[in-house]
Amino acid sequence: MKLSQITKTYYTGEVPTPVLHDVSLEINKGEFVSIMGPSGAGKSTLLHILGFLDNQTSGNYFFDGKQMIDYSEDEIAQVRNEKLGFVFQSFNLLPRTSVLENVKLPLFYSQTARSKWKDLALRAIESVGLSHRINHDQMQLSGGERQRAAIARALVNSPSVIFADEPTGNLDSKSGADVMKIFQQLNDNGHTVILITHEMDIAKHANRLIHIVDGRVDSDKTKDLSNF
Ligand code: ADP
Ligand code: MG
Repeated sequence: MKLSQITKTYYTGEVPTPVLHDVSLEINKGEFVSIMGPSGAGKSTLLHILGFLDNQTSGNYFFDGKQMIDYSEDEIAQVRNEKLGFVFQSFNLLPRTSVLENVKLPLFYSQTARSKWKDLALRAIESVGLSHRINHDQMQLSGGERQRAAIARALVNSPSVIFADEPTGNLDSKSGADVMKIFQQLNDNGHTVILITHEMDIAKHANRLIHIVDGRVDSDKTKDLSNF
């Protein structure tokens, strides 16, 4: 993934709100990147552009070597469904729906044969340690369990990149640590992980730490080279 001089301006009516200014960065396959920065700095906006959930205002975004503007609508939908997984602070599980059905959901939109859905979902649920909760709905789960269900849903398609926007923001520190162990494992298994957080303890799991301040990359450090 490569961003080249990306800007993003939101418009409320005629009123422009510039949010990202000239952001250029490259994230390679297999990296574990944390993005930190003050509230309102543009972190979620950046993640949405990287995840094909929103368009930049100017600049180029390359995914798998191809510019975003060269992707058709169908190709974008396919990338989003098959190559990218998303985890949000607020879990976003469907209410009154079991963990198993929630985790199966992305498979409805994929090319995967229906006969494989249940096994794939069970395997994803097992990988987050939630096999004893497959028939529970979200009201019957703790916060940490909800987030683990959301992670299982994000990885059921075996996406190459997992995006997580403050995934531990609503969790106590023990559940947060459990969730981070899962991201660590996913990265060990070759998934690229891009994580927004404002907790240094959480950010430290990554190999690379990018600070965003006022819509600009303020610093970009890799663990091997120096301390964060
Ligand atoms: P962060 O995730 O770093 O807290 P965001 O990327 O969510 O920051 O937001 C950056 C700025 O853009 C904030 O000032 C926010 O109010 C504004 N913003 C975010 N989304 C929209 C939107 N859809 N329309 C208008 N302004 C927005
Ligand atoms: Mg945000």
